[in-house]
Amino acid sequence: MSQPLSDRILNMSTSATLAMAAKTRELKAEGKDIIGLSLGEPDFNTPDFIKDAAIQAINDNYNSYSPVDGYVELKEAVITKFKRDNNLTYTLPQIVVSTGAKQSLANIAAVMLNKGDEVILPCPYWVSYSDIVKLSEGVPVEVQTSIDTDFKMTAAQLEAAITPKTKMLWFSSPCNPSGSLYSQTELEALAEVLKKHPNIYVVSDEIYEHINYTGKSHASMASVDGMFNNTITVNGVSKAFAMTGWRIGYIGAPDWIARACNKMQGQVTSGANCIAQQAVITALNADPSVVKFMIDEFKVRRDLVLDLLSNIEGFNTNTPEGAFYVFPDISYFFGKTLRGKTIHNATDFSLYLLEEALVATVTGEAFGNPNCIRLSYAASQKEITEAIKRIKEAVS
Ligand code: PMP
Ligand code: GLU
Repeated sequence: MSQPLSDRILNMSTSATLAMAAKTRELKAEGKDIIGLSLGEPDFNTPDFIKDAAIQAINDNYNSYSPVDGYVELKEAVITKFKRDNNLTYTLPQIVVSTGAKQSLANIAAVMLNKGDEVILPCPYWVSYSDIVKLSEGVPVEVQTSIDTDFKMTAAQLEAAITPKTKMLWFSSPCNPSGSLYSQTELEALAEVLKKHPNIYVVSDEIYEHINYTGKSHASMASVDGMFNNTITVNGVSKAFAMTGWRIGYIGAPDWIARACNKMQGQVTSGANCIAQQAVITALNADPSVVKFMIDEFKVRRDLVLDLLSNIEGFNTNTPEGAFYVFPDISYFFGKTLRGKTIHNATDFSLYLLEEALVATVTGEAFGNPNCIRLSYAASQKEITEAIKRIKEAVS
């Protein structure tokens, strides 16, 4: 029987991170002892004070549709957070709360892009950027970076990528998957180029903002002189508050963009889950020091992963300054045959690790860098140590 699906869905790739997570679940259900380092999901529980707020909201009968762009109290908490953590002054009409930062990004693409509009994506970029852009008929323009520049795009590279069709630049800092972090000075250098092109809008995805090991405060593109009116700041609670399944993300944006996102969301999903929104008011109003224990633990694990990987020939890593990923260049293995299997590319290597080491990773191809794989260290120190021991055995 024919399956007359749209070109839109047929041309879309499956999310590699979620596909690998599904594969890991499937193999575990079959009884295989897989260690999952594929999914970017904190392995902590949501803090109790946030859970209590959700329980309270249920008992207070929060069961109706919320305003499409979020409860006013939540938007006020978002405004407080932007001011407190990023020195950004947004007003109520500039905030839209969504069902995860992923929906925030999909809204932005839908309201900003026309067919053929180019979106600059410094590589490696977060897995879904490219497909979200394509879904809105935008054209992703990949800018390759390498481990030598800590996987960051320089101002000269940005300038060279701009064409009359460039509409947007999307990037995450701290970056998923490289863990790289743009400093204030580096953002200013990019902004110098962008200010010559006032028709270009920036998506600054700051969802890993609090997972920062530098001891220096987070730098936001919207706070760079002259960039506020051209920047959409995307953030959410999935990572910092271990709330991935609660599905709340938000933006601060020029009000005409926020209004358009609100209109889009009103036809597609309505407001985000009302219980989760109430819990997030409590999360965002708390001082960020409440999640410091998680960040401290991620830093210990980062150091552990780097130390263990440095003992494996063929793994070449940068030192991630944030998020919870390492993105080693493993191109050393291309063309080599391991246990009778020839490794042609990063996808082969990632599959090889799944089959032979029983460790789930994600191919760098999904992030626009075909020489690397991504490992998430949002796993216990015991799991990390065992996983890297297995990897070492499988590639030696
Ligand atoms: N941006 C980046 C860089 C991410 O890693 C993620 C991971 N989920 C998201 C956005 C989306 O987050 P969520 O939809 O869970 O808020
Ligand atoms: N952002 C996480 C990751 O990159 C979660 C998975 C997803 O939303 O794609 O693994």
